[in-house]
Amino acid sequence: MSALIIDGKALALTLREAIAQGVQELVKTAGIKPGLAAVLVGDDPASAVYVRNKKLACEKAGIFPQEHRLPASTTQESLVTLIHQLNGDERIHGILVQLPLPSHIDTKIILQAVSPDKDADGFHPVNVGHLVEGDPIFVPCTPKGVMHMIDSTGEPIAGKRAVVIGRSNIVGKPVAMLLLHRHATVTICHSRTQDLPGVVREADIVVAAIGKPHFVTKDMVKPGAMVIDVGINRLPDGQLVGDVDFDRVKEQAGWITPVPGGVGPMTIAMLLQNTLESARRKAGC
Ligand code: NAD
Repeated sequence: MSALIIDGKALALTLREAIAQGVQELVKTAGIKPGLAAVLVGDDPASAVYVRNKKLACEKAGIFPQEHRLPASTTQESLVTLIHQLNGDERIHGILVQLPLPSHIDTKIILQAVSPDKDADGFHPVNVGHLVEGDPIFVPCTPKGVMHMIDSTGEPIAGKRAVVIGRSNIVGKPVAMLLLHRHATVTICHSRTQDLPGVVREADIVVAAIGKPHFVTKDMVKPGAMVIDVGINRLPDGQLVGDVDFDRVKEQAGWITPVPGGVGPMTIAMLLQNTLESARRKAGC
């Protein structure tokens, strides 16, 4: 058996076309052009690539991109001041602060400085609370993309056993919460889980968000399971791989996402979607 591939690139392209259309309609009907501000502190090359890709994606969708590149020496106070300015900027409907931040800056304080109404990444505690309550306003982009990929298969989620590997605030916890709200029976595995392979083997849906290449192996996966690979890992030879041993696991799974071309493109599409939705809320439509 060979798994069906869930093509994140193709899904993201379709989404981005719909978003571009939505942007045009909002401009026409309400005179509002959605705007996204991206804040990058320091010169981490991977972060710089992410911010550049997000800017290009905004431009293609007709969203106004505002980029703020600050030196690594930026103080926490001046970063907070910038975010407060963006909170009050009428042209901006979404603010994203590219993580990780330099170690002298308290990430929690920065994420809490972003207005919950412009929190395109959905990381503000107010938005986390809405998500936990099951009534989210901004859903974090990667988890939102994961759910879209699962839904694209047409497979029901309710009643399924779902195992999320990784418990970060950015991916693992919100994905688990979204699956729970869709009535899956959810287990979160982490670095101290006992018999992790045994737990994963029970899953109908596996979401891997660990950051370790080829962590999920074929013997951990129930035949026919759906495997969503969030991981992005660079091997010493430069190859980009996920957390799942794709070539072998695809012989066992029913559906699988590739890396690259899986969850990554969905994350950017969902950032655009969140910005558009925020601008629509502002316009009252
Ligand atoms: P993180 O480092 O914050 O969290 C990793 C989690 O994995 C932790 O909760 C930890 O408990 C768990 N973990 C680590 N070692 C483990 C082990 N041996 N057994 C079980 N669990 C273990 O990472 P993150 O921000 O959640 O990102 C996870 C991965 O997803 C990374 O590779 C990251 O680059 C990738 N990522 C991809 C996207 C995307 O758009 N595709 C977005 C965000 C993150």
